[in-house]
Amino acid sequence: MTVVIVGAGLAGATTAQALRDRGHDGEIVVLGAEDHLPYERPPLSKAVLLGDKEVDSAYVHDEAWWREHDIDVRTGTEVQSIDLAGRRVVTTTGEQPYEWLVLATGSEPRRLRLADESGRPVHYLRTMEDSVALKAALTQDTRVAVIGAGWIGLEVAAAARSAGAAVTVHETESLPLLAVLGPEVAQHFADLHRAHDVDLRLGAPVTSEDLAEADLVVVGIGVSPRTSLASAAGLEVDDGVLVDELLRTSDERILAIGDIASQQHPVLGRRVRVEHWDNAIGQGKAAAATILGAAESYAKLPYFFTDQYDLGMEYFGSVGPEGYDRVQTRGDFSGAFRAWWVKDDVVVAAMQANDWDASDEMRASVGQGPPSDS
Ligand SMILES: Cc1cc2nc3c(=O)[nH]c(=O)nc-3n(C[C@H](O)[C@H](O)[C@H](O)COP(=O)(O)OP(=O)(O)OC[C@H]3O[C@@H](n4cnc5c(N)ncnc54)[C@H](O)[C@@H]3O)c2cc1C
Repeated sequence: MTVVIVGAGLAGATTAQALRDRGHDGEIVVLGAEDHLPYERPPLSKAVLLGDKEVDSAYVHDEAWWREHDIDVRTGTEVQSIDLAGRRVVTTTGEQPYEWLVLATGSEPRRLRLADESGRPVHYLRTMEDSVALKAALTQDTRVAVIGAGWIGLEVAAAARSAGAAVTVHETESLPLLAVLGPEVAQHFADLHRAHDVDLRLGAPVTSEDLAEADLVVVGIGVSPRTSLASAAGLEVDDGVLVDELLRTSDERILAIGDIASQQHPVLGRRVRVEHWDNAIGQGKAAAATILGAAESYAKLPYFFTDQYDLGMEYFGSVGPEGYDRVQTRGDFSGAFRAWWVKDDVVVAAMQANDWDASDEMRASVGQGPPSDS
């Protein structure tokens, strides 16, 4: 049985590995547009950008590992179309038949024309090349304008400050990370960056005049799922590629996983599309289970982590479209800190900052009643 995986990112790599771990001995082909073996992206805005680790440390496995596991990773190979009836994909180098197809094409950064046309050097951050180029540009006294105070923008701001650059962050919302964290906890991130001398300019769109003051511009305004291959093939797509609890698309032989998958989540009871590292791994494993007939629904709750300056944080769960009633907190954000987002007396999301022993407890608190002593 030939399994073809489109996208040699973390989700695709994990599916291939999990198929072998579960004993699948058929052909596995991983087709990746980038010129790299599969790698992890989180270090690209953290350890690699800070200069603490070499970019090569981000590879999931070395070349020998893929060879030993008889997994055919074809880098520099872009899939151009899917022939559903003929069960084959057309690539830049030829055709490849499949019995099962896994789409793991990930996301691409949203572009900002104002920045692209600013005449300043503009950086986006998605690939190894992006990270290496940005790292080289972040030098002492460079004036860096970061557009977007989301996770990537704030991690870049922290790395740029550590390199001694002068950093301005522009954000249209009134606080960084407001949509994810709400005002109670988002305020702490604003305080954290201001304490590190970041010039946070909130509540107004960035202008060309702002960018004229900068030596370089970094755009971190979110990503779009790469769904064009799926929609051109006629698969059901709405924001992401629609998949069921077993990660199956509207075609019975095609799964979609990772950043592109909009999954009917069995625990949350709604569709979620999760653009995070842990989800790429979890859905990668679950896709292998589905292919091998294990029928295990993917029920893991969303999970995310970030590192900024001396702050390490983990976030579990998800605040739904109905929002939350209140946030309970314990501790001090500059030390060990915990927060619970509560809706109808149930914890819908929880986070810990610099309180790593609390990880398991915080994860387990989601779906339970709120803690009584905070
Ligand atoms: C700088 C950075 C930092 C991050 N930090 C964190 C973090 O701290 N915590 C966290 O939880 N998440 C983080 N993330 C998010 C996390 O990395 C993603 O959720 C994860 O990479 C998604 O994996 P994926 O395999 O779905 O997609 P991707 O990693 O995007 O991989 C998809 C691959 O498919 C390839 N591809 C696309 N189309 C085709 C095609 N037609 N043919 C062949 N190949 C194709 C792409 O080139 C790409 O290599 C970060 C992301 C970035 C960019």
